[in-house]
Amino acid sequence: MEQKTCPFSKLYPSQLNKNSDFFMQYAYNQSINAWNADEVPVGAVIVFNEEIIASAHNQTRARKDPSAHAEMIAISQAARKIGDWRLNECLLYVTKEPCPMCSGATIVSRIKEVHFALPDSKMGGLGGATSLHLLKDSNHKPEVFSGVMENECKLLFQTFFQQRRKTNP
Ligand SMILES: [Zn+2]
Repeated sequence: MEQKTCPFSKLYPSQLNKNSDFFMQYAYNQSINAWNADEVPVGAVIVFNEEIIASAHNQTRARKDPSAHAEMIAISQAARKIGDWRLNECLLYVTKEPCPMCSGATIVSRIKEVHFALPDSKMGGLGGATSLHLLKDSNHKPEVFSGVMENECKLLFQTFFQQRRKTNP
């Protein structure tokens, strides 16, 4: 089967403004890496003290592991880097709303903020399909922000699935 490389170009984030656009651009670049590895194009980075300490893309196919979502891999990387399972001061940027598994991981790792680009009404765990960050008695509730680079991430995601349907009807 012919493997199509990603038709979208990587971005070169300007260092002048380390805002949510800046960090989401790195997550976006990771989603392009996912596509080029024939994985569902979701990318994530984790930020601590304005530095990216973890970055990952989906690897469920390569690792033959259903838990190898971008967010899960990035959370493990960040915990190793910080040397603590608690990521209280960390911010997660991800190109698509986390699924229930990954949303759960942001809660148990106590991530401070989750920023996602594209909402997911089917499987999103942070407001799209369900709202795990609002569990009444949970002792950690990450702050959730959405919509940064939503259009870019949506276009990339939809194009990936259109191409995949063409190659594997
Ligand atoms: Zn997930």
